[in-house]
Amino acid sequence: MRLSGKKFLVTAGPTVEAIDPVRFISNHSTGKMGYAIAAELASRGAEVTLVSGPTNLAAPEGVGRIDVVSAEDMFLAVAGLWPSMDGAVMCAAVADYTPAEPSDKKIKKGANPDYEIALKLRPTKDIAAELGRTKRTGQILVGFALETDDEQANAMSKMARKNLDIIVLNSLRDSGAGFGGDTNRVTIFAANAPAQSLPLLSKSETAARIVDRIAVAIG
Ligand code: C5P
Repeated sequence: MRLSGKKFLVTAGPTVEAIDPVRFISNHSTGKMGYAIAAELASRGAEVTLVSGPTNLAAPEGVGRIDVVSAEDMFLAVAGLWPSMDGAVMCAAVADYTPAEPSDKKIKKGANPDYEIALKLRPTKDIAAELGRTKRTGQILVGFALETDDEQANAMSKMARKNLDIIVLNSLRDSGAGFGGDTNRVTIFAANAPAQSLPLLSKSETAARIVDRIAVAIG
């Protein structure tokens, strides 16, 4: 199904939260799933903006990319774009916590070998939930869930809490699914439709199936 004239925002990759100028907190996201979704949307004629944390991937053909580092940067970029979008697909693995007081100088090791230090963290903004809160009629919001237990119940409650139209559940229990690899096994939940469990597929085939569901939802 074509998506000509539709404008989509896709978030992808990890966020990187500075502890000091040389150290950070991040996660294992490679961005592959989000980049595959951006490529698939663009191949169907949509105008796509990818807001990406640091990855080793090249922007897909025909996709505009905005590079960000931290969760706060990603929030600011996404919040500015959202009002003009028809849909957003939130694939990024956004840090839930960031150092509360990042140091502008490299933190020194203490002279005493037994000296312990503690890192104070504060919560970041939930970008998907913020888009859900400001969603207009007709805008489609898609999120991902990576769960290790009570997968379906957690995914469904996340869909409600963030006001998502579609949630894609990745299970870390499935071999071949999740971070880093080229394959994924997901279940797609959409409001008023039965859950759709896909087989183990390449991330680009998985993206095509997710975009099929988005195209139906956007009408
Ligand atoms: O709450 P949880 O992190 O499990 O939710 C995952 C979904 O929410 C993903 O779609 C992710 O991109 C999005 N998210 C976000 N901003 C955050 C945390 C998660 O957009 N701070």
